[in-house]
Amino acid sequence: MAKKKSCVVIGNWKMYKTGSQAKEFVKTLIPLVEKSNAQIGLAVPFTALESAAKEAEGTNILIGAQNMNDASEGAFTGEIAASMIKNAGAHFVILGHSERRQIFHETDEMVNLKLHKALEEEITPIICVGESKEDRKTGHEEILEEQILKSLKGLKKTDASKIIVAYEPIWAIGTGETATPKIAQETQKHCRDVCASIFGKLKAAKIPILYGGSVKPENAQTLMKQKDINGVLVGGSSLNPKKFAAIVNCNKK
Ligand code: PEP
Repeated sequence: MAKKKSCVVIGNWKMYKTGSQAKEFVKTLIPLVEKSNAQIGLAVPFTALESAAKEAEGTNILIGAQNMNDASEGAFTGEIAASMIKNAGAHFVILGHSERRQIFHETDEMVNLKLHKALEEEITPIICVGESKEDRKTGHEEILEEQILKSLKGLKKTDASKIIVAYEPIWAIGTGETATPKIAQETQKHCRDVCASIFGKLKAAKIPILYGGSVKPENAQTLMKQKDINGVLVGGSSLNPKKFAAIVNCNKK
């Protein structure tokens, strides 16, 4: 029987769960996903990094952060450095999530600075891009192209193997309105073509491009069957270990 392609499944907990709740969650999740060949990650709040990472040690679950500052250290009250999240157990970091772009006014230029810092610290960056409902009417392809080109500016061809891209249409995040597999596939193919203009076709073909936006156990499998969807970034459904495990394991079916 042909082997199923491996996928990436990342949970984004946003501002939910304490350190002790994270520890309990990981403990519950481990046996539910131990046979999976997916690359599994949980992006937890800063305060839960250490306890989640300790509990996940030696398993197939990696722990990551949801943001970081681009400076090495300094007088930046309330901010957190890449070296700090790494020391606390983060293997990856989500950058440029639409909530950070919209609520905290993060720009592509800021995302780009953070991306370079994450790579310097050998933390895998997951760069989020996505369009609003309005952009869909006026030309989402240009918007996405600009986001990708500006966010990835200055990367070398060899950096292609060190990054993950997440396509997260803003209209689908937390709304229950998932992009259809056809729309997600078409748009992610476009994202890959833009990546190919930076890294070349062969290298771009290997970049994991995730879909994010109201992914649930019921729709994850169909989405992940699309050629240019190499995994999913999951918000709401990642807060429940059984739901999250069902998404991780849907690739086995
Ligand atoms: C997200 O926050 O990245 C996300 C995709 O959220 P949800 O799955 O809840 O739409």
